[in-house]
Amino acid sequence: MTCHACGAQLSAGAKFCHKCGAAVATTGATGWRAGFPWALAGAALGALVTVVAMRATSGPARSDQAVAPFANGAASGGGVRPPDISQMSPEERANRLFNRVMTLAEAGKQDSVQFFLPMALGAYEQLPTLDADARYHIGLLQLAGGDVAAALAQADTIQRATPNHLFIYVLRAHAYQVQGNTAQEQRAYADFLRHEQAELALKRSEYDDHRESLTNFHTEAVRQAQNPRRPAS
Ligand SMILES: [Zn+2]
Ligand SMILES: [Zn+2]
Repeated sequence: MTCHACGAQLSAGAKFCHKCGAAVATTGATGWRAGFPWALAGAALGALVTVVAMRATSGPARSDQAVAPFANGAASGGGVRPPDISQMSPEERANRLFNRVMTLAEAGKQDSVQFFLPMALGAYEQLPTLDADARYHIGLLQLAGGDVAAALAQADTIQRATPNHLFIYVLRAHAYQVQGNTAQEQRAYADFLRHEQAELALKRSEYDDHRESLTNFHTEAVRQAQNPRRPAS
């Protein structure tokens, strides 16, 4: 299964792309009308795999874990230790939570996404200024939470400060894809390709940080340009 928006390889059952945050199996009427039977089949298969994996790992130790679900990580060194966020700068804290939510979204753990999402967004609210990269992270978080309108607003805000920033088009393509707005989605891909060379030549550090996403997005944009899907309306 690959991400429709950026072409990244996704794990089975992933509801969101870990590279760009695009929803894989869109929920609601637009998703059904747009027709992604392969995505829905992938989600169903993912659920099955999860069940099998849970059966496989649930041995005699299961009851112990159920008694102390939070003691595991802290007590045993092997577990995932929660980061000591009190020692972090506000930027580090926000970025850590961003990565956390994106990883959970990629794994299809929507309950955990909803749990960490307000924390992550709150961490960005506490930053004194928001640059294009921070707004991109916020937009991806909002997409992971299903708030498409807010993600589009982030893209608009980036555009006011930096008119041709590539993150504008990445956010828009994903947002419009979730909405089933094929015409606007295609336009975002085309805008990306039109500004890509000049923008990459500026060597913005955030392009380096997200090089893999941008490369995947470029591949998808070229594919879309060669084989455009007909707008739904
Ligand atoms: Zn993607
Ligand atoms: Zn970034």
